[in-house]
Amino acid sequence: MRLDGKTVLITGASQGIGAATAELVATRGALVILVARSAQGLSEHAERIAATGGRAVVRAADLADSAQIVALAERVLGEFGPPDVLVNNAGVGRWLFLDETDQDELTGMAAVPYLAAARLTRELLPAMRERGTGRIVVVNSPISRMPIPGATGYTSARFALRGLTAALRLDLRGTGIGISEVIPSKVNSQYWVNNPGAEDRMPSISKLIPDVTSEQVAAAIASVIEKDRAELVFPWQLKAFEVGSRLFPGLTHYLAWKTGTHR
Ligand code: NAP
Repeated sequence: MRLDGKTVLITGASQGIGAATAELVATRGALVILVARSAQGLSEHAERIAATGGRAVVRAADLADSAQIVALAERVLGEFGPPDVLVNNAGVGRWLFLDETDQDELTGMAAVPYLAAARLTRELLPAMRERGTGRIVVVNSPISRMPIPGATGYTSARFALRGLTAALRLDLRGTGIGISEVIPSKVNSQYWVNNPGAEDRMPSISKLIPDVTSEQVAAAIASVIEKDRAELVFPWQLKAFEVGSRLFPGLTHYLAWKTGTHR
């Protein structure tokens, strides 16, 4: 799908991967709907996009709140019709063992990204299906393929996101709506500041895989949209680990455990 003239809704667009994606797709001629909690962060970003000749509108919402998701979708459908592309990117989650995670935080990790992506997609899908074209992009973590110790709630939410993507891929087959999953290695975003302690729990084996930038992830997201691609795991070193994990799951689990966090 060409991005020029399309409407692209991006969640988690106030910073990191979502902000970089918004900037890139706007330069390719899309109208971008920026969603996150921080209205101020979104407005500043919309102004930056406008300053470079792009088009962006701000629709602030807390995606952990299902009522706000329903209201957001109603407003977007009323104002713009169904988006051509929905990028489910907003995500949080500290890396904690299950018994270190209090009940509310456990709920919050499931709420965003997993339930937020499921709920927002649910609200927009009937209109997208009626139109018969579109693409849903899910930004997921390598941990959705290769679990690590000491990040139980985070891992569970990313596996749920993977399940959502796989289920939707079958449900939407033949409808004209494609689904893509983008899985980057560690990204040098503010994620690690926003979710303190996570970085310390990265298994040392992961040092073999280079970090990527938010801008590289944005380019990957634009590429799966433009090439109608189902999945992109990158860089190639991560892809090699991912293929290895399917061929030798026992070895991958052992290495993640051996070089990861222990108590
Ligand atoms: P980030 O820099 O922490 O940005 C997260 C974005 O999500 C922000 O725009 C934040 O905006 C928004 N958000 C958080 N909670 C929200 C809520 N309740 N409602 C609406 N928006 C919310 O993270 P990132 O690095 O860009 O990561 C984005 C996604 O990619 C995450 O799911 C992450 O797991 C995944 N990922 C990250 C990496 C990495 O290494 N960073 C690698 C692979 C995959 P507000 O705070 O303004 O709401």
